[in-house]
Amino acid sequence: MKPSPFSVEDALSEIKRLVLRHHSFVLLEHQKPDGDCVGSGLALVQALQSLGKQALLVSHDPHPAVYDFLPGKEFHTRAQYIEPEDFHADVAIFIDCTDPSRAGKGLDLAGDSVWVNIDHHVSNSGFGDVSLVCPQAAATGEIIYRLLGTLDVPITKEIATCLYVAIATDTGGFRYQNTTRATFEIAGALTGYGANPWELAELIFETRSVSSVLLLGKALNTLRVSRGGKLATVAVTRDMMAQAGASPDETEGIVSYPRSISGVEVSLFFREMEDGSGFHVSLRSRSKVDVSMIAVRLGGGGHPRAAGALVAGTLEEATQKVLAILDELDIWTDS
Ligand code: AMP
Ligand code: MN
Ligand code: MN
Repeated sequence: MKPSPFSVEDALSEIKRLVLRHHSFVLLEHQKPDGDCVGSGLALVQALQSLGKQALLVSHDPHPAVYDFLPGKEFHTRAQYIEPEDFHADVAIFIDCTDPSRAGKGLDLAGDSVWVNIDHHVSNSGFGDVSLVCPQAAATGEIIYRLLGTLDVPITKEIATCLYVAIATDTGGFRYQNTTRATFEIAGALTGYGANPWELAELIFETRSVSSVLLLGKALNTLRVSRGGKLATVAVTRDMMAQAGASPDETEGIVSYPRSISGVEVSLFFREMEDGSGFHVSLRSRSKVDVSMIAVRLGGGGHPRAAGALVAGTLEEATQKVLAILDELDIWTDS
């Protein structure tokens, strides 16, 4: 991460100044938005609306259907429905994006706005006129929670629900290594503001479509374990998605199955791109390997235990590219 010229406190007060001074805001999500991105975006857009601001949340890809229950949907649209020539916002806020290109088509709407970067990825490039990047935060939702405190925004049940989902999803239900005391303190406070842990866990972790379960079955059939039992790989092709009647966002969570195999340190999940040009690879590690470094070398990014990148070519070629980098690191022998 490039050192940010802003301390967290400076960045928070700078964003407060921007909010006081400006009227229109566009919030940009990363491509293939996850629960943290959608929840953080919907929370901030509603907070800005409550301050009388004009605020719109924009995504390159559609929101995964699993988050349809989140409040604030009316303030969200897809970038493809907006003509950049007819659009201007005073401030563009990038949510959970390691670099501006992660916003995909949404980037066209940032134009000459003031750019604000709110993120928690170690691999964040430190871009933007104001950069609020906290790698120790388990989710961007934790940072938005702090920002709302700085902005003195009352936390409604709707905002609390969105932030709770942001944090619960990026921590895998408060189980991953990024979960800290602050995570529980914030989640506890959000519960006090009306977020319902059981109801939300039920909606995000215990509710699946038939097609996603059929696809999971197909994906698990591709399982390969190698490197002395330390590497597990699964893949989903466009054909498999078509056969299961599943959409790309229904692949969420598949990568955690290979990682859960006893002895596995690194798991890879390859998902074929819709245009057939290559594969999105999700990388996960159990406790030692920093997969964000591997993803960065592939042109992607992420966190030490969860990262991703786009790799061109056939499944065989994409797999070889990732394995070549992994094999260069001395991670398969016991230390
Ligand atoms: P995923 O494997 O898609 O669930 O992503 C895991 C983590 O890596 C998330 O924090 C993503 O934001 C990040 N990530 C995934 N793909 C990319 C990419 N192409 N560039 C940068 N970061 C990525
Ligand atoms: Mn994300
Ligand atoms: Mn995140």
